[in-house]
Amino acid sequence: MSRLVVLGAGESGAGAAVLAKKKGFDVFVSDMSPIKEKYKNLLIQHQIEWEEGQHTEDLILNANEVVKSPGIPNNAPIIEKLKALNTPIISEIEFAGRYTNAKMICITGSNGKTTTTSLIYHIFKAAGYNVGLAGNIGQSLALQVAETEHDYYVIELSSFQLDNMYDFRANIAILMNITPDHLDRYDYKMQNYVDAKFRIIQNQQEEDAFIFWNDDPIIQQELKKYGIKARLCPFAEVKENGVIAYTEDDKVYINEPIAFNMEQEELALTGKHNLYNSLAAGISANLAGIKNEVIREGLKTFKGVEHRLEKVAKVGGVQYINDSKATNVNSCWYALQSMTTPTVLILGGKDKGNDYNEIKDLVKDKCVGLVYMGLHNEKLHDFFDGMGLPVKDVQSMKDAVAACYEMAKPGETVLLSPCCASFDLFKSYEDRGEQFKACVRAL
Ligand code: ADP
Repeated sequence: MSRLVVLGAGESGAGAAVLAKKKGFDVFVSDMSPIKEKYKNLLIQHQIEWEEGQHTEDLILNANEVVKSPGIPNNAPIIEKLKALNTPIISEIEFAGRYTNAKMICITGSNGKTTTTSLIYHIFKAAGYNVGLAGNIGQSLALQVAETEHDYYVIELSSFQLDNMYDFRANIAILMNITPDHLDRYDYKMQNYVDAKFRIIQNQQEEDAFIFWNDDPIIQQELKKYGIKARLCPFAEVKENGVIAYTEDDKVYINEPIAFNMEQEELALTGKHNLYNSLAAGISANLAGIKNEVIREGLKTFKGVEHRLEKVAKVGGVQYINDSKATNVNSCWYALQSMTTPTVLILGGKDKGNDYNEIKDLVKDKCVGLVYMGLHNEKLHDFFDGMGLPVKDVQSMKDAVAACYEMAKPGETVLLSPCCASFDLFKSYEDRGEQFKACVRAL
């Protein structure tokens, strides 16, 4: 019997273990951290052996193949040992992909993945398709393949998941953009991160499609290196060379395979970044044969995703917006860019090698105050203090919101769009966003 070891028992690992058990593997699950009760129960229910708080080498190094959680870095000691033994290490998506013939719509990029993935799912659901949501959101692909088969899967793929994908084939691959992110996990080499993102098109065939943002300089440069077989579906803000989707005279156009258009102001999601997300979603629905009126309705009625430019409340004439998911500088750029009133910006947290030059001009143009929220705000002081804006140092959300309340005048906006990961002061970006909303509502 082939031995499959699953490292990391979160959503993806637990799902992979259940699928592997169903497929007759000798399965073992190992997690260095405590395993959540929900996943322990799932493993017990399926009579799968597991351990937590340790990696017992004798039970791991004898694996024929390993499914690694995207959270475990490639240089973790146990991974190094497996690599030395030439044990194949794959991701949960790669594993699950072997056991389904469903059509795969895969979304990656530095920003916009969750929004675009959720929007596509919303449109496919509205069309009555039998579709599953997987990857970084929803239930793991593996568990769905094990328990409820679908005709389509819409899958959000991070670069970490793509790292360990080899034979998996995306029928529709979407690459939103590439800007520096997670470089700490890629030896601080941008090309390594770019290569990971481009794995989304490996194994694509002539009948598949590759949707991408045409104006991304990195994507353009990389495209030259690949002999891409799939149908190319570039989109851009305006009509330009070769793009199949764009805006013109306040209308959104998708020209292929079926001509589609709608009024831009009818799109549920606002801001330039969300126009890109709507175009990518619209193209994929069009490719999947969904009728124009259903696509239009889907793009109109989508409710947005929590913690992404989420309007929280108006207090004393000030609009508070939660963009806690903006964990890198580029997503903050898009958030600031879509602000229509003077803005007090809360930023800071765990810096992943940020270069704030990208938002310098926008901060000058749009901001009337800055609140630095983190354990180490020195870099923010060094970069932004010279601009002469009021600034305030805080170490908790309560103080951050209180500082904003003092700074912002009626008619202005308070924006939490931190450019950084949340782990210095919060459990996660969700926790940071929840605390923001609770503090705003308590004003
Ligand atoms: P991801 O899943 O890739 O992290 P999300 O959809 O969760 O992306 O959005 C995260 C943040 O990135 C949003 O709050 C928004 O500020 C920004 N963003 C969303 N879509 C895009 C895009 N297409 N291009 C650039 N930034 C974007």
